[in-house]
Amino acid sequence: MFKIEKKGKSQMKSINKIKIFKMILKDGPISRTDIEKTLKLSAPSVSRIVESLIKEDLVMEVGKEDTYVGRKPISLIVNKNASYIIGINISKSSIYICITNLKSEIIYKDTLSIVAINNADVLLEELDKLITASINNAQINKDKVLGIGVASRGILDYKSGTILKLKKGIEDVDIKRFLEERYNCVIMVENNTNTDLIGEYLINNKLSNNKKSLIYIYLGEGVGGSIICNNQLVRGKNNLAGKIGHMIIQPDGEECYCGKKGHLEAYCSKGAIEKAYRDKKGDKDASLTDICKMANVKNEICVDIINNALNKIAIAVSNLLVVINPDVVVLSGEIFDYYEDALSILKNLVKDLAFDIKLNDIDWVIRSKEKMMIEYSATALIMDKVFNV
Ligand SMILES: [Zn+2]
Repeated sequence: MFKIEKKGKSQMKSINKIKIFKMILKDGPISRTDIEKTLKLSAPSVSRIVESLIKEDLVMEVGKEDTYVGRKPISLIVNKNASYIIGINISKSSIYICITNLKSEIIYKDTLSIVAINNADVLLEELDKLITASINNAQINKDKVLGIGVASRGILDYKSGTILKLKKGIEDVDIKRFLEERYNCVIMVENNTNTDLIGEYLINNKLSNNKKSLIYIYLGEGVGGSIICNNQLVRGKNNLAGKIGHMIIQPDGEECYCGKKGHLEAYCSKGAIEKAYRDKKGDKDASLTDICKMANVKNEICVDIINNALNKIAIAVSNLLVVINPDVVVLSGEIFDYYEDALSILKNLVKDLAFDIKLNDIDWVIRSKEKMMIEYSATALIMDKVFNV
């Protein structure tokens, strides 16, 4: 449906077809004349492509009927339900799935627990069953699935689309090939933190602001990160760029789970902050959310603990600002969801550390953990792959 032909005139035609469809998708209702002007294409070629899009049921005409004040101009809109995208997010404990239409509206979602699963073959079988059940429950036709975007935790070989290690017992999951054999559509596999940032970039950012460089720090059970620089995801030679959790922020400091010392994760992961509380309070336990809530009512120990974590995050952000000089800093973590002053404190700390005031010319974005849907961001991987020509 949106395949790009390999050579010559038909290649140009197929690229123009995608461009025209994308324009109607983004700006519709839109007239043929406006498409011609914006894309600098001739009237006959726009008209020919539009006719084929209408024939394929991808585009519809609106405003055709005569009214008493005269004839309304005919505009084009997409048939948003002509095609669907499936997004999947694989975490340690669950698989999350959602299905969107071409307008990126969620039409179905579901979750499957994988706590009891401990080998790759069973995982793939269960994933296949979940996708099939979701397609059936959403009452859509399997042939109308444009693509499946898969985000996963763990270490990936993104080129082959293999999850090298998801968790204990689940290794070398050849997920891309498995899905390609079963579904006749585009399959994309990407690390979950990268997917989340790409989602922020494509869905929330690019269409409205067109920001070029973004850095992302994700604080959870572990600390992750991702970098988009000049509209490109930064992977590095061995796909290790942007592993911000292992940035040194305190030489010879606390031990990180990787075995080395002084990394960001050793201070700012959920477990590290909860341990800091336990160390100060004898053996008393509190969850990170509770620590944030106690800090909100000025509990001194909790304010101290959170501020200490924010200090370390500020060092990491400052170092990244010097390297990337980004437009946007994206943050996610319970600290930012539950501690009311977190962002303003962090902004001030970063401001104090910057060697040049212009480095602080940044948009700050918090991705709320509660609203976060990495499976939804995974659908953006497919939209970008298919329509970014
Ligand atoms: Zn480390």
